This record gives sequence, structure tokens and C-alpha cells, in this order.
Amino acid sequence: MTGLILTLNAGSSSIKFSVYDGDARLFRGQVERIGPNGRLTVKDDQDFEHPVTAPDLSDHGSAVQAILTNILPLLDGRKISAVGHRVVHGGMRFDAPAVLADETIAYLETLTPFAPLHQPHNLAGIYAARAAFGDVPQIACFDTAFHRHHPFVNDTFAIPREYYDQGVRRYGFHGLSYDYITSEIAKQSPTLAQGRVVIAHLGNGASMCAVRGGRSIASTMGFSALDGLPMGTRCGQIDAGVVLYLMQQENMTADQISDMLYKNSGLLGMSGVSNDMRTLERSDQIGAKQAIDYFIFRIQRELGAMAAVLNGIDALIFCGGIGENSTLIRERVCSGMEWMGIELDHTRNAENTPRISAELSRVTVMTIPTNEEVVIARAVRNLA
Ligand code: ADP
Repeated sequence: MTGLILTLNAGSSSIKFSVYDGDARLFRGQVERIGPNGRLTVKDDQDFEHPVTAPDLSDHGSAVQAILTNILPLLDGRKISAVGHRVVHGGMRFDAPAVLADETIAYLETLTPFAPLHQPHNLAGIYAARAAFGDVPQIACFDTAFHRHHPFVNDTFAIPREYYDQGVRRYGFHGLSYDYITSEIAKQSPTLAQGRVVIAHLGNGASMCAVRGGRSIASTMGFSALDGLPMGTRCGQIDAGVVLYLMQQENMTADQISDMLYKNSGLLGMSGVSNDMRTLERSDQIGAKQAIDYFIFRIQRELGAMAAVLNGIDALIFCGGIGENSTLIRERVCSGMEWMGIELDHTRNAENTPRISAELSRVTVMTIPTNEEVVIARAVRNLA
């Protein structure tokens, strides 16, 4: 495939996009606040912001149309030959990207109850792109696909079997990020790529993944993207009894609990200060300190669990906004983990170099900036 590839990541009120030529990104941008006050930005790879005209950004359809209208004149006559979509859920069926035939889209619709806050918006992006692009091939890349071959014990909950059979499973998410990181490890060290690796994707959403020989065998996220580590506003692991208590004693509705666990919990809910790690690191409020303490505690706990599941660990990789940038969080995660063979080089850590472990550390510790969009572009190139 020699044409250009458009990647789309459609959320509830935004659509992020990039235009790729091979692995090189030519343009990127987003429509924010889809609706009457929507705003479109388009930047090139030098971060130059191009002027745009976007009279209508009232819904996903008009937003995709506006993206198209504004980027086509920038492409020197080259055509968009395929479109790749980030889709949160591929269900039990997809362990790899898929061409979006009618029947595939119908299946993805059936997964909406599994990811009600994301799947409908991803689908809205797909419908909008189909309308705007006609018969240009469209490909879906799933956040769940990378984890689809977890062993049964890491795929299930201990509830009656019928729920497992109907799809109540530990899907795991952030798969595009983990896919990218494993491909980078393979480039940098084929030996490590065959080994036992724990990847910590620490952003506003956060999860960890245990990878052996390039394949995911466990994820801290489960049925939904709520499980595991505390996140910017999501709670992470929680005892199901808490949800029962909120329903039975506090008379909270499902929507209220959902709002609380997705939007008002995590670092924000615990600190009462912010969901943003930079703000928390600068804050002298006790809540901010406790939120960071809990974040570190959960990461270390999961790190121990993942090393156990992998029967050891050869590498620990940090990625995501916090993992890639926060010297403090990396330092604290690794502190006390010498028993596991993790020894940080503090100077390298402070300098954000790719390898941040000490020369003699048995476990290699690295930061690798993640790139979910290039994974989509590559998948589209392979399939379209
Ligand atoms: P998303 O999951 O929305 O893609 P990102 O991966 O961009 O999020 O991560 C956002 C998080 O990264 C925020 O909590 C932000 O504070 C944090 N972050 C970014 N740069 C730094 C930094 N230099 N130090 C600490 N945290 C940082």
C-alpha cells in the first residue's frame, strides 16, 4: 500500500486523528467538544498549526467531514487510501485488527453493553468515516486484541460459569500501547523480546501487562478499563462489596456509581486536589501525598504479582505520560524492589534516558515512549 493512512480515535466529545505515510506522521489534530462549541486543530509534524475552516462540528459525522475537508488540500494531491479506527472492544472474537465489513460492525454493536462509555463513540466514528470516505477500506484496531490469548485463569472471574460463557471475562485494555512497546523491545533487544517483561502504561488511564515471549499473559485491567491500578479519575481494583454497599445502603443508582467510579475516583477522588500527576507532585496537600502513595503501592503490588505469574522478570518498561516523564514515580516504584533484581541508575532516571537501570541490575528497566497510532497505521497497511 503506497497511499496515505488516516487514523481516527473517536471518543464521546472528541475525535483525534493522524495522517501517516508509512511510519511517518505527516499531520495530526483533533476535534474537541463536538457540538455547538466544537473546535478543530490540525498540526504538521513540526507542530505548526494550520489555519482551518470548520463551519459545522455539531456531531461525529460533521466532525469527520471537517477533518477531511481541511486535510485533503494539505496532501499535495495524494489520497487517503485507508482509514484505521481505534476501537476499545473486540470481544471474544478479535485477537487482531479486522476489516470493517457490515457483519463486523454488527458484531461490534453487540459489544456496547461491555463498554458503554466507549464503544458507541468508536462506532459513531466508524459510521462517520464510512459516510465521508465511501468505499475506502476501514480497519478496526482493538484495545483488547493483544490480551486475547490469556490463559483461562487470567481470563475469568470466580462467578457462575454461564457469565464467562456469555463474555464476562478479563479482557484487558491498552493493547495497542503494549503491542507497540513489545515491537520496540524486539527492535532494541531480541533477547529481551523473548523474555519475561512487565510493562507499566502509566497515563491518565493506567494499567500493567505481563508479557512472555512477546505475548500478553496477564493484565491489571479486566472486564472493564476500571480494574487494576488507580488512574486519574478511575478507581482501579475495588471490592465488589463496596458497589453493593453503595447500592443497598446509599441507594445509589447504577449511573451514579458509574459516574463515581469512572469520573470522580482515582487520583482525583483520593487527593481532592487533581487527577493530574504533575499537580499532585507539586502539591503539599496531604491528600495529594496519599494519592501518590497509593498509586505507588498498587504498582509495586501488581509488579510483584506479575513477576510471580511470569516466574521471574527480565525487564520492566515504563510508558504513558507519567511513566515516560516522571522521574519521581519511576524512582519510587523501583525503590525497595532490589530483592527482585531491580536497581535504578538515579542519574539516568533523572535524565530520562531510555535505559534507566544500573549497569549491574539483573532486571533491565527502560522508558519507551508509546505510540498507539503508529500501531494502527501499520495494521492498516498490512490489511487494507
Ligand atoms: P492519557 O491516558 O490521557 O493518554 P497521558 O499518557 O498523556 O494520558 O498521561 C497523562 C498523565 O501524565 C497526567 O497525569 C500528567 O500529569 C502526567 N505527566 C505528564 N508529564 C509529566 C511529568 N513531567 N511529570 C509527572 N507527570 C507527568
